[in-house]
Amino acid sequence: MFSQEKKIQLQKHKTPFYFYDFGLLQKTLSVINTESKKYNYHVHYAFKANTNLKIIEVVKNSGFGADCVSGNEVKCAIENGFKNSEIVFAGVGKSDDEINYALDQNIFCFNCESIQELEVINELANLKSKVAQIALRINPNVDAYTHKYITTGLEENKFGINPYEFETVIEKLKNLPHLKLIGLHFHIGSQITDLSPFKKLCTRVNEINNYFLNKGFDLPIINVGGGLGINYHEPDNEAIVDFEAYFKLFYDFIEIRKNQQLHFELGRSVVGNCGSLISRVLYIKNGINTNFAILDAGMTELIRPALYQAFHKIENISSIEEEIVKYDIVGPICESSDCFGKAVELPITKRGDFIAIRSAGAYGEVMSSKYNLRDDVRSVCF
Ligand SMILES: *Cc1c(COP(=O)(O)O)cnc(C)c1O
Repeated sequence: MFSQEKKIQLQKHKTPFYFYDFGLLQKTLSVINTESKKYNYHVHYAFKANTNLKIIEVVKNSGFGADCVSGNEVKCAIENGFKNSEIVFAGVGKSDDEINYALDQNIFCFNCESIQELEVINELANLKSKVAQIALRINPNVDAYTHKYITTGLEENKFGINPYEFETVIEKLKNLPHLKLIGLHFHIGSQITDLSPFKKLCTRVNEINNYFLNKGFDLPIINVGGGLGINYHEPDNEAIVDFEAYFKLFYDFIEIRKNQQLHFELGRSVVGNCGSLISRVLYIKNGINTNFAILDAGMTELIRPALYQAFHKIENISSIEEEIVKYDIVGPICESSDCFGKAVELPITKRGDFIAIRSAGAYGEVMSSKYNLRDDVRSVCF
């Protein structure tokens, strides 16, 4: 629950809007810095989690690099003060225009996801007489045990280069003089709350790192991606995830050589719990099992429940009622999947009440859409 003071402040704004708690964001960033610097690890912020310019500004000031998955994200990072030399660019479908732009900007590294992509970057770099720094994004076949839409490191997923392709890649690279292989990249999925998949990832990274060394590639960069999950059920009790345990796990289980640097790409765990979607109840309507509370925010503002059956804690921040009743919390959009939660226990809720949908800082505002010709979503930070 928010403090009384915060609740009053939030009720002064026109809904729906995203509220970002900058105090919590600063604290989270400072914990990440403290814990990662113990081991000299490098952290990139995964832009796709949230590109609200006010958030990006704070993240940049904390000294993070940028992990981008589109040309426009690379552009956004550069325009907002991230150093070109600290930008990495991943994605299975980089277009020629995006690659050309990133080449012109001399970004730090392309994380390459297929053999054909290596050939295309080589060709485009050749036309510019440049040498592009690349890392191979490898599919380590590690199950992240997360929702199937956000698992990325299994053989059946579209991401990365599979180990059975390594021989071909190594042969290919000999004839691609406009590429310089500098590292290995991994990213197994998102919202991983049990650390054991990361432990398995370390084992796979060690094997693959040794394999490349034996083939004559002593690579300076090992990038293990992101994916650390947050506590959607208790956003107040565990507002900041256990970064100490996370970074220590890598320290304990990954075998990197003295000349190698370990990189991370964190998105959700940086911004997820700092954001809430604030909405008002438009109508209360009787249903067969539970009543509906119809909000002025819907899947056009926050699509995670509709897209991944994601759970978000929902609170009534204006009711002073004591009696608890169950509501299906739904939005105004013409889709049955436009539902934030079923049988949610709230104090008696009325038209005009303010509802907070918590932990919406990551993959929330960035995924908002204009479906039903909705207004652009606003944000408030304090
Ligand atoms: C999305 C993504 C991340 C960040 O994932 P989180 O779960 O938000 O930490 C990191 N690296 C790559 C390549 C990604 O696509």
